[in-house]
Amino acid sequence: MNSTKVQVLSEGIAIGNLRKLIFSVPNQSKLVPNQEKEKLQQAIEKSIKEIEELKTLDKENEEYLAMQVLLLSDPVLLEKTNREIENGVSAIEGITFVLGEYMNSLLDATSDYLKERVLDLSDIKARILSNLSGSHIEQFTKPCILFAEELHPSFLIQNRKKLLGVITKKGGYSSHSAILCRQFHIPYVLMNEDISESLVIIDSRKQQVIFNPNQQEIEHYTYLLEELSKETYFAVPHNNFQFLANVSENLEIKNVNQYGFDGIGLYRTEMIFMHNDRPLTLEEQCEIYSEAVEMMQNKKICFRTFDIGDDKQLPYLKVHQKGVENYIHNPILFKTQIEALLKANHYNTVQILFPMIYNVSEFELLKKWVLQIQKEIKNTSFVQFGIMLETKEALEQIETFTDVDFISIGTNDLVVDIYHIHRDVQTEAVNEYLKDLLLQLKRVVDFCKQHQITLSVCGELAAIDSALREFIKIGIQNFSVAPPAIKVLNHVYKEFF
Ligand code: PEP
Ligand code: MG
Repeated sequence: MNSTKVQVLSEGIAIGNLRKLIFSVPNQSKLVPNQEKEKLQQAIEKSIKEIEELKTLDKENEEYLAMQVLLLSDPVLLEKTNREIENGVSAIEGITFVLGEYMNSLLDATSDYLKERVLDLSDIKARILSNLSGSHIEQFTKPCILFAEELHPSFLIQNRKKLLGVITKKGGYSSHSAILCRQFHIPYVLMNEDISESLVIIDSRKQQVIFNPNQQEIEHYTYLLEELSKETYFAVPHNNFQFLANVSENLEIKNVNQYGFDGIGLYRTEMIFMHNDRPLTLEEQCEIYSEAVEMMQNKKICFRTFDIGDDKQLPYLKVHQKGVENYIHNPILFKTQIEALLKANHYNTVQILFPMIYNVSEFELLKKWVLQIQKEIKNTSFVQFGIMLETKEALEQIETFTDVDFISIGTNDLVVDIYHIHRDVQTEAVNEYLKDLLLQLKRVVDFCKQHQITLSVCGELAAIDSALREFIKIGIQNFSVAPPAIKVLNHVYKEFF
């Protein structure tokens, strides 16, 4: 017997050499201030050394570079950042904050000379950050099938182009890694056996993994793989319904357009932050969001502000409770993201979606904050504001959210919060809670109708046909799913209309 049964988390066929990997995810709660201070000191010293070397090669800019050394050697810079670190942030977040303050005060200056010094500071910032980062994530160099205990989203994102398929021991359908694999068309299965590194085949249709396949099997699956790559989908005509896509990076938007989606219902922006282990600059974010907006043209694109926590971690971000607490404790990251989103809103198609909202005051605070930023940067674009409905508390108080433009039901977190069912097993356990969930969501449907608030479901249940049917029956008409799940929307829609 050279095959074993597996549980499918993302469909498809893969043929490739197996690579075993053991890795751990950086844990923000384990930040040690003294280690962070040490890292900072070393990064500053390394930056000074690099600039000194540059000075000898670049005589033309000697004076400018000497000024950078002076700035970097300033003990006040070190002191201020160390104080931030003592307050519990990482070296990266601390230096970003302190240099950000310097830059803001220069921008307020009346002299043009001082204003131009902002560029010097941003140069310095980029150098220290790159010296502070040092990639902690192993990169694959050759295409392979990964075999690991579990899969972390940041690893997947950074290696996705080399991953033909994934096999892990732990995981589940609604985990972020499984969600991403479905979005990226990477076959992903769960298997509870140990295997050695060899050629393997993943076949989701037969729910199996084949080890050391023979020549005939290799030829058969190579042919199937080729046929599968030709497969394409297109949305069936759908009146009064919105077929929306969940995405995590711009590369996926090509499929979103090709498959005929009406817009993007959930752009998980935190995933684009995972390509780097330093914060993305305003310019970098502007470029990404602008490109996404341009690709979607006049269609709506709903960007969720970064939603870090649980299985989604960033090495430089001190994680508080997901949602508003994260933004209050990382104000520069939030402000930079909002500024970039507003600047990218070329066609007034951008929607801003706040995750993990517990009560209406949190929504009001964040909306007010965004409007304040908009005023500061003199941006006049039109934006709609919405919330993810994914906490029990928000659901209980749904009638207070009269001021939102739209609500997106995040079943993945909502089911955890109400029924304490882990996201990994929510699809298998759907019959245990669906009936009760529908009763509660009917109230949301009625409330949204009454106040003309657009309502959609963007959690994984929207792509599970048995749940999707029930959502349609209680009056929900907008669904946001991973692009390949257009197949599910199509066939369930056709059953009704
Ligand atoms: C959800 O919770 O249902 C959701 C869509 O958000 P995420 O899966 O990113 O937590
Ligand atoms: Mg969620």
